[in-house]
Amino acid sequence: MQHGLGGCQLDIATALFAATRRLRAAGSPSARLDAEVLLAHVLSCERLHLYRVPEQKLSAGQQAQYDALLQRRAAGEPVAYLTGRREFYGREFIVTPAVLIPRPETELLVELAAQRWRERFDHALYIADIGTGSGAIAVSLACLLPRVRVLATDVSPAALAVALENAVRHAVAQRVAFYQGDLLAALPAEWAGRLGLICANLPYVPETERGQLPPDVLHYEPHLALFGGPDGLALYRRLLAQAPRFLVPGGRLLLEIAPGQPEILARELPPGWRLCGVHLDLAGRERVVELEY
Ligand code: GLN
Repeated sequence: MQHGLGGCQLDIATALFAATRRLRAAGSPSARLDAEVLLAHVLSCERLHLYRVPEQKLSAGQQAQYDALLQRRAAGEPVAYLTGRREFYGREFIVTPAVLIPRPETELLVELAAQRWRERFDHALYIADIGTGSGAIAVSLACLLPRVRVLATDVSPAALAVALENAVRHAVAQRVAFYQGDLLAALPAEWAGRLGLICANLPYVPETERGQLPPDVLHYEPHLALFGGPDGLALYRRLLAQAPRFLVPGGRLLLEIAPGQPEILARELPPGWRLCGVHLDLAGRERVVELEY
């Protein structure tokens, strides 16, 4: 087989060095990390293993597989879609191009939801995760809160299949129910008045900012999960209109948003809603808005 180094078998250290150079040249901002994650994936090992046995040789098959992945990464495909995995809140989630790749800043939403649940709602109420995608929020909450039941909805059947797989993988499928449909309209009428908390990381990128997204996001992640109309808030407006019917009195909404959007939402809040807070992510940017009905 051909692999550019005269037919010799590469060892791990050399392969990583060459791969890092290649990805850096292709413009990856995390070339070394990408190279390591992809090689660990090919070798079915932990990333740390690469440092324990840097002299281990790659087989011809492994080299070919690594080369193919590097080529796709160099063309911009996100690492999570190449490996089919992404870590979120300490757990590994399956991801496919049908779902948005879980972001670290969304862990804030999970943390706040768990905290509110423990403080205010530790009884027979339900949490909903609207637009669940990979199920990262719904499954993490079910894992963190052993007594909670979560209702997860998504408009995309392909996304729900991934979310269900993640619920099974983390042994919470008995406590997460999945519904396909448009936001809260996906839920059967029997859930009216029974939700304590509604979480949502809906598409909130303004259409007008399409050109500012990094190319790997714009070209590979599902637009259905990214864009929320002219100012990014179109889906949240609809969610606010649907939510009162499903919430208990004093029930809350935790919504992931982009900086600047809480002010817009606050200005046009329908009657009955109260803005409880705007929470900042680790980068100090507005990331979650909390509303009470
Ligand atoms: N935070 C995502 C981004 O990186 C957007 C996620 C969303 O729209 N819900 O663009």
